[in-house]
Amino acid sequence: MKSRFTTTVFRALNTTRAFSSSTPTPNPSSSQFPQTLAGLRARLASESPSLSNFVDLQSNNSYSVEVGTKKKPLPKPKWMKESIPGGDKYVQIKKKLRDLKLHTVCEEAKCPNLGECWSGGETGTATATIMILGDTCTRGCRFCNVKTSRTPPPPDPNEPTNVAEAIASWGLDYVVITSVDRDDLPDQGSGHFAQTVLKLKEVEAKYAYRSVGRAACDMIPDFRGNRGFVEEVAKSGLDVFAHNIETVEELQSAVRDHRANFKQSLDVLMMAKECAPAGTLTKTSVMLGCGETPDQVVSTMEKVRAAGVDVMTFGQYMRPSKRHMPVSEYITPEAFGKYRVLGMDMVCVTFL
Ligand code: SF4
Repeated sequence: MKSRFTTTVFRALNTTRAFSSSTPTPNPSSSQFPQTLAGLRARLASESPSLSNFVDLQSNNSYSVEVGTKKKPLPKPKWMKESIPGGDKYVQIKKKLRDLKLHTVCEEAKCPNLGECWSGGETGTATATIMILGDTCTRGCRFCNVKTSRTPPPPDPNEPTNVAEAIASWGLDYVVITSVDRDDLPDQGSGHFAQTVLKLKEVEAKYAYRSVGRAACDMIPDFRGNRGFVEEVAKSGLDVFAHNIETVEELQSAVRDHRANFKQSLDVLMMAKECAPAGTLTKTSVMLGCGETPDQVVSTMEKVRAAGVDVMTFGQYMRPSKRHMPVSEYITPEAFGKYRVLGMDMVCVTFL
């Protein structure tokens, strides 16, 4: 998935409400802060974005920017401009990856954020996303640039150790371990995935320090909803269990491989929450600009939240090539911001 502009809409750390720096935490002693649930609901009803806000944005052309037609594509809006990857950290990470024959989804997907993420970008949080179980997926989602085959080569047995050693040597703030789907393997790759996280923990214990701030596992496969496989990965020691629903419920079959679906993905996230040790976060992501409507987005957010998912992020879909699904529109930062506020409010209400 290529996401130039992203936003996090839920961020609930179990029983602790967490607001981002741009969202002020209400001061309970303030006379402005409602003392009762009814008061809070009234405040949210008056302040929170509603569907009509998104309709207003659409009617004054502030919700999104047109992409043009196949013959006459329009230029990308200015907030989508790509930056050239570079910097010492970028060079260091790239060299280590090639030495150890490792893959990253950042490169496979030709992500325009690559240089920014690897070097720390504006936030100073250096992040890299390692892709395990090879560079070839058994599925064929319409937005994804990863190679596909029904019979990819077997996974490299040294990969868990190589990944752990590489991560430990980089000193990243946040590492994301992701994988292709491996429907061809008897355990669908769950054992290899869990082994990679365990090796990372072993390496950290060996060097007696925490090499990364957090180890998240993103794009974890759905393992076709197999509870045993989900449990093995959820209990491996990861900090964040992330499985993407990718798009709104209504567009699942048009966007994702036919073996994936909305219910199965939500079930996987719920299973992970049940099985994982307390404190493990669950996370999911959707792309905007696939043809969804604001009411479908809001309804999907409500279902994700009702499934107990802690973190939800939104990104703009970017077409990797002309062979892939077209972009329907470029969502504006203003509309992303409204979804973010709405997501924060949903967490707030759920928490109470
Ligand atoms: S499951 Fe779909 S999105 Fe994930 S790597 Fe395979 S083709 Fe890409």
